[in-house]
Amino acid sequence: MKLYSGHINRLIDELAALPGIGNKSAQRLAFYIIGMSKERAERLSQAILDARANVHYCRYCQNLTDTDVCPICGDPGRDHSTIMVVENPQDLAAYEKTGRYEGVYHVLHGAISPMLGIGPDDIRIKELLERLKDDTVKEVIIATNSSLEGETTAMYISKLIKPLGIKVTRIASGVPVGGDLEYIDEVTLLRALEGRTEI
Ligand code: ZN
Repeated sequence: MKLYSGHINRLIDELAALPGIGNKSAQRLAFYIIGMSKERAERLSQAILDARANVHYCRYCQNLTDTDVCPICGDPGRDHSTIMVVENPQDLAAYEKTGRYEGVYHVLHGAISPMLGIGPDDIRIKELLERLKDDTVKEVIIATNSSLEGETTAMYISKLIKPLGIKVTRIASGVPVGGDLEYIDEVTLLRALEGRTEI
């Protein structure tokens, strides 16, 4: 016998399918949503639909944005000759929060993982190489995580870029092994960036 009505179960199932949400949290959220005013529930569903319909990848850096070119790539005050390569938008946000990095970014949306069957064509490496055809780029800073996947990706990218005569650097390994950049404090991030070495 199902504990709840069909509609509640459907909502719980949808929520439980989200990353990091277990069945218990899904139930808690479902009951919270059911207790919302009709207006608030409509605002929430509309926000999901609007984000899904209007957010896409920046033409250059592949970060998520509402516009064709994201605000960072479109900012003439940024140093467009330096590109920092990160795994995901959260990593970019972590570096932006430090307020000290003046270059631009490239978001890979993942890392190479032979174990999970994720190859170079499954992440946005092609798009990075496309940007490097423009000879304004002087340095590519690889800031992938220090996990096995992050290191594999860094190695792979540096092998592709070095023959192009562009300087390739890797952030210092002050970042804990396997640590997601997103959870590392700003001081550690800046130290990793300042201590980057050529690879
Ligand atoms: Zn961009």
